[in-house]
Amino acid sequence: MRRYVIIGSGAAGIAASEAIRNHDASGEILLITDDPHGYYSRPGLAYYLTGEIDERMLFPFSEQDFRRLNLRRITAQVARIHPEAHRIEMHTGAQLPYDRLLIATGAAAVRADVPGSDLAGVVKLDSLEDTRHILNLIRRARSAVVVGGGITALELVEGMRARNLRTHYFLRGDRYWSNVLDAAESKIVEHRLQEEGVQIHYNTELAEILGKNGRVAGVRTKDGRLIECQIVAIAIGVQPRKQLAQTSDLKVDKGILVDQYMRTSHEDIFAAGDVAQVYDPLSGKSVVDSLWGPARDQGSAAGLNMAGITTPYSRLAPFNVTRLAHLTTTIIGTVNKGRDDDLLGIARGDSETWRNLPDAIAAQANFDVNSLRLLLGKQHLLGAVVMGDQTLSRPLTRIVIERVDITPIREQILQPGAPLGDLVADFWSQLHKS
Ligand SMILES: Cc1cc2nc3c(=O)[nH]c(=O)nc-3n(C[C@H](O)[C@H](O)[C@H](O)COP(=O)(O)OP(=O)(O)OC[C@H]3O[C@@H](n4cnc5c(N)ncnc54)[C@H](O)[C@@H]3O)c2cc1C
Repeated sequence: MRRYVIIGSGAAGIAASEAIRNHDASGEILLITDDPHGYYSRPGLAYYLTGEIDERMLFPFSEQDFRRLNLRRITAQVARIHPEAHRIEMHTGAQLPYDRLLIATGAAAVRADVPGSDLAGVVKLDSLEDTRHILNLIRRARSAVVVGGGITALELVEGMRARNLRTHYFLRGDRYWSNVLDAAESKIVEHRLQEEGVQIHYNTELAEILGKNGRVAGVRTKDGRLIECQIVAIAIGVQPRKQLAQTSDLKVDKGILVDQYMRTSHEDIFAAGDVAQVYDPLSGKSVVDSLWGPARDQGSAAGLNMAGITTPYSRLAPFNVTRLAHLTTTIIGTVNKGRDDDLLGIARGDSETWRNLPDAIAAQANFDVNSLRLLLGKQHLLGAVVMGDQTLSRPLTRIVIERVDITPIREQILQPGAPLGDLVADFWSQLHKS
């Protein structure tokens, strides 16, 4: 009987457990996590923060689902891996043997490197415990400063506003999420935030968090302004939690390096999810994602390979359906290039692949709040951003992922002022007639 040990009970760890159990009815599965709340939806935390859902709705699994998987759940922190001995060591010193090990430890928010970062009231949004903590602080706070970029910063801004806090949003540059959105899309988001009463401070950097009696009392900006607040929320990116791999001499780069079977540099150790750095056939590079879908897919592939069912992980063009300032937004494939000054690591809900292909030609149409942007290669659609009306997001996702030949409409798309939405919709319906 094989013993599978899985470190991390997030999307990747659970998907791996399911894949193993589907192919190995008798193997022993141990699922270890240092999160007292176990398995829950991290993207859902934003909706819990705004009050749109209650805590119960974060948990996708019932006790019965866990029983069906027939696994042993352990709440503990793993401190070390001993690859040659095939053992892991807990922070208590206790050791457990394994035959196959999966590291699915996710990613953690990067801390701000400014004086005052340790004050009570400086928060991040990584876990359910973080969210509960923020909700507690909000009860006693009047105003908040949010620093950072990407989806998480915006979720924090929206959470604070939804709870009626005066909300200041600091952007280092002159627009929001500049390595994924284009200038017009950033404007749409910023405009909506301002309409909701958020005060955006452009070209603004945090110099110091000021405290009183150990608690946040305000911030000082690099250009010398003082802003009073009781909460400072930091969302400047995440970093893969790869320490366990580093200390056991597995090969690491930005994340834990894995081959197409999600195997690390040690034969019996696999990695999946936010912590893994996987080969991307689209760009020829090895990349990290911070996306729920790929975490699940990687976990499933890892689980199958751990159970002896040789299965390569086939990485598709990553996509994310999210909400930016209450506007549903789908981001598919390659959509931009360059870096974002507001982020030190990858953002949650982001993929490095979105910035990997520099030669794409962009065509764009903005109408009212809805916006559609297409990024074209010679024969294929490389990426798309759909904001607002989502009618086209499914066809566009399929056109990108299935690498549909778009030669018949390419020239029309590139005409100035082309009705992009109609062209894509007609093309899609023609494809399905033939
Ligand atoms: C606020 C927020 C918003 C997001 N929004 C989106 C979105 O819009 N779209 C999207 O696709 N994705 C989004 N994401 C990202 C998505 O949730 C992650 O990509 C996904 O959860 C990754 O799953 P994972 O299993 O790799 O890691 P995680 O879900 O992070 O799980 C890691 C697990 O490992 C455990 N662990 C770590 N170290 C140890 C240790 N030493 N010992 C024991 N246990 C350990 C942790 O406790 C945890 O259980 C968001 C995430 C957050 C936090």
